[in-house]
Amino acid sequence: MPRTRSASGPLRRDPALRRAELLARLRERDEDLAFLAHLTAVGLKPLSRYERPLNDTLKSELTAFGLSLGTCTRRTEAGGTVEETIFSRSTQLLDIYREAFNNGPLRLSSELGRLEGYLFGFPPCCVAAYIAKPYSPNQLSREDQALLFHWACDGCTITPLLLPRYREALRVVREA
Ligand SMILES: [Zn+2]
Repeated sequence: MPRTRSASGPLRRDPALRRAELLARLRERDEDLAFLAHLTAVGLKPLSRYERPLNDTLKSELTAFGLSLGTCTRRTEAGGTVEETIFSRSTQLLDIYREAFNNGPLRLSSELGRLEGYLFGFPPCCVAAYIAKPYSPNQLSREDQALLFHWACDGCTITPLLLPRYREALRVVREA
């Protein structure tokens, strides 16, 4: 979709154009964040995590995108803390994430790994395979694997359904 920054009147109120404008603005600041925001806004990912605090501008842009935001503090093994930003269309999922992870360690138990995978929209087969043995070889091309936020399991039947949609989402972000 072409840039329409100078649009005014009825064009300004077109929700699709408004979304493209927001996406373009997010992408100019951080393409990964824009990609995650779009995947979450369209519902491919129920909840996403950005492993840094966000400034007020980015926060208000995500909110304008229809996402609810939360923060979560995690403890590192060295005794430090990490501030995470989480966002979702559902405040209830944000509550579940915070209940499970806030003030908890970064290092995950198998149970919390499964919960995290569920909230992030990862295929359960891939989550189980990763917990059993991280980064086992799979048949994905390097480009396809890099598009995902989970490590695909060997012979996955769900990831091939996600890949074209993730590719399309990245195209929308890059062309906004
Ligand atoms: Zn799988």
